[in-house]
Amino acid sequence: TKTINLKQRPQGRPTLNDFDQSTAEVATPQDGELLVKLAYVSVDPYLRGRMSDAPSYIPPFEIGKPMASGVIAEVVESKHDKFKPGDYVSGTLPWKVTQVVKAKDLLKVDKSQAPLSAYLGVLGMTGLTAYLGLTEIGKPKAGETLLVSGAAGAVGSVVGQIGKILGLRVVGIAGTDDKVDMLKNEFGFDAGINYNTTKNMSKAIAEGCPDGVDVYFDNVGGDISDAALFNINKFSRTVNCGAISVYNNTELPKSISVQPFLVRKSSSMQGFIVFDYADKYPAAIQQLAQWLQQDKLTHTETVRDGFETIPQAFLDLFDGKNTGKMVVKL
Ligand code: NDP
Repeated sequence: TKTINLKQRPQGRPTLNDFDQSTAEVATPQDGELLVKLAYVSVDPYLRGRMSDAPSYIPPFEIGKPMASGVIAEVVESKHDKFKPGDYVSGTLPWKVTQVVKAKDLLKVDKSQAPLSAYLGVLGMTGLTAYLGLTEIGKPKAGETLLVSGAAGAVGSVVGQIGKILGLRVVGIAGTDDKVDMLKNEFGFDAGINYNTTKNMSKAIAEGCPDGVDVYFDNVGGDISDAALFNINKFSRTVNCGAISVYNNTELPKSISVQPFLVRKSSSMQGFIVFDYADKYPAAIQQLAQWLQQDKLTHTETVRDGFETIPQAFLDLFDGKNTGKMVVKL
């Protein structure tokens, strides 16, 4: 079967040369195991961290071995009484088209409840990140202003929609005019800012958030976040969810220049890793599924076709080529 491996650790921005494709033998499933075939593969910015060997919250990928991410797979053969051929499962699996896996590491997903790929997005890791990051750390209150960076992406688009459901004024930052239109017309944001065409981001944020920013949901870090933090209100909360704008930097940042603002505003800033909130997943999924069924949430994605497109789909996240969740369909 085909595999996609980490060929070398990227220096700065990853390129196609950091990956290679090969083939591997497929074992025969034993008791408690399943033979599965990948159906959808998630590509995510955090995989950049696993390509490097810097200390992190999950171990690095090994050179010469397949990379791995969230997937939906179809059961081809089952040696476990709870699964049968034709079932679909979700889990974190290597980039290997067909493989034998332990059934206990996978969850069954229900195709009749939502499209399969939604279990990688709004009903999967990114939906959980949006919901739990916003509610647990952002502590939003109706009437407040929520600012979201990376707003048209998988996490950001869901954060903004949840903000609207909870009665906040929601302003998003994204990289193209089309994305800004989408924020307003598809996701119901009150205003949007294109960071690529805006010279003075701090001023644009002040205009978009006339009452200041009470919750800043940060997906990108860097200069955009500095501009956001110039506009925070007293007792505001910043959710440090991600910092994609600096993931490819080769030097560590020297300081957080906006620290005095946090002091002056009695403002809090807290890092957030969704995996640390696993006990809250069931309730969060139930809430997200209910909003989806009530059409309060839209499920948006960019779908690439074919196993071999996985590396390019991943690289394209750093060029903003996706709106909503980026997934690869096999
Ligand atoms: P997205 O779907 O948001 O895709 C990435 C987006 O980031 C791109 O579409 C692009 O949009 C934007 N982007 C890329 N480069 C830059 C840049 N230099 N400056 C500003 N924006 C940039 O990915 P996800 O929703 O999966 O992830 C969003 C963030 O959340 C990431 O930082 C990720 O690491 C983090 N995350 C954190 C988790 C946690 O547990 N803490 C879990 C999941 C994700 P644009 O066109 O607008 O530039």
